[in-house]
Amino acid sequence: MCGIVAYVGSQKAYPIILKGLKRLEYRGYDSAGIALYTEQIETCKRKGRVAELEVWDEKITETATVGIGHTRWATHGEPSDANAHPHTSNNGQLTLVHNGIIENYASLKQELVQKGYTFKSETDTEVLVNFIEEIQKNNDYTLEEAMRVALKRVVGAYVIIVMENGFPDRLIAARKGSPLVIGVGEGEHFLASDASPIIEYTKKVIYVNDYELAIITQDEIILKNLGNESITPYIQQLDMELAQIEKGGFDHFMLKEIFDQPASLTDCLRGRLDSENQILTLAGIDQHLSIFTEAKRIVIVACGTSWHAGLVAEYMIEALCRIPVEVEYASEFRYRNPVINSDDVIIAISQSGETADTLVALERAKEQGAFIFGVVNAVGSSIARLSHAGAYTHAGPEIGVASTKAFTAQLTVLAMMAIKIGLEKKTLSTSEYKRYLAELALIPEKVKTVLGTHEAIQKVAIHYAAARDFLFLGRGYNYLWH
Ligand code: GLU
Repeated sequence: MCGIVAYVGSQKAYPIILKGLKRLEYRGYDSAGIALYTEQIETCKRKGRVAELEVWDEKITETATVGIGHTRWATHGEPSDANAHPHTSNNGQLTLVHNGIIENYASLKQELVQKGYTFKSETDTEVLVNFIEEIQKNNDYTLEEAMRVALKRVVGAYVIIVMENGFPDRLIAARKGSPLVIGVGEGEHFLASDASPIIEYTKKVIYVNDYELAIITQDEIILKNLGNESITPYIQQLDMELAQIEKGGFDHFMLKEIFDQPASLTDCLRGRLDSENQILTLAGIDQHLSIFTEAKRIVIVACGTSWHAGLVAEYMIEALCRIPVEVEYASEFRYRNPVINSDDVIIAISQSGETADTLVALERAKEQGAFIFGVVNAVGSSIARLSHAGAYTHAGPEIGVASTKAFTAQLTVLAMMAIKIGLEKKTLSTSEYKRYLAELALIPEKVKTVLGTHEAIQKVAIHYAAARDFLFLGRGYNYLWH
């Protein structure tokens, strides 16, 4: 998840993009960057918040009327200047911002490396911009043609907006699985991940659909599908207020994040669960399988909601992998003197990857020789860096204080881990493995179905809201919510 803003028109692009990115920081804020077209494409990108971009040279920011911007929530490569977007292709002609995940980036990268391409970042995005360049160069295509061909080979989710040297007033955008809105102004156009950066300039918007390509200049919007057929843009009038748009039309962030779950769980499974071929790939586990299968004990260390995810994981891992599991509250674990052996595996669970108690507990365990595996949402965070290996939850930023989508993504990762290790240890039969994979693939849709009953849930909630106490009955996985 991340925020994208772009502008083409006759006003100064930089302040519009900068302000827009600030509005989109709820979608990601680990690094940011802007590219502007002056004589050529100029780029400024920094680790940290959007405000870091305010230092840019006025000669550039005061003149450009076309540009693209990005506020990142990393999925591939830690937050750093080099990994921040926009990314530029090897020949310097194409510059692009991207929201999403390119699942097959590793194989595309290998192809490109063999052809002599070099990479400055660890991102999937830089692979994509070079892949488009390669197709364009090889076939003497226009950018539009190259994007159409390239995107047919791309597996994953994306919104991309591309600038090309030599085309100072044109942006080309494409989307699949991530949101993109075009704002329609008078002699100017805006693009963004949601309408919040656009609404103060125009209320006329076009929501771009999956597999569509938008070619945008100051005066024109051309929409096409990947088959090069024109599509008539459907212009809508926005009737939402700014605050509402930022929360996706929901009353508060927590509710938005609850409703994000079908998408966040899909992202969590993306590139890992191939249910058609019944393959589960979790690089962090795959590279250290024997450590898990030979572990005498797994200790899960976490706080708060992540600790609850750990309780569920204890049941899953013991049932599927037959490895004894202990779940420790990190604040206790760090202050007592726990027995840690070098053949213990420690699983640390944390949304932010910065939970102070968990971090100190891990440092202790690491000193004593334990293998540390992080289940973390924030890429490149302290816990992610301290871990020997890990699996990111890819739930996107969570603004609500009570954890919702981060928690269900943690459970999903932990379930995938248990299934993988269980198969390797043969404590899980192949037929059970296949059944679990098939069930996992259905989860996002099932969550969607449950969320579809929200009106009935609301009625029940209103009915019981004033009750003094609740008594929950449960057993097994449903017993763990104490
Ligand atoms: N996968 C890209 C990256 O890690 C884009 C992430 C995003 O949507 O912010 O840079």
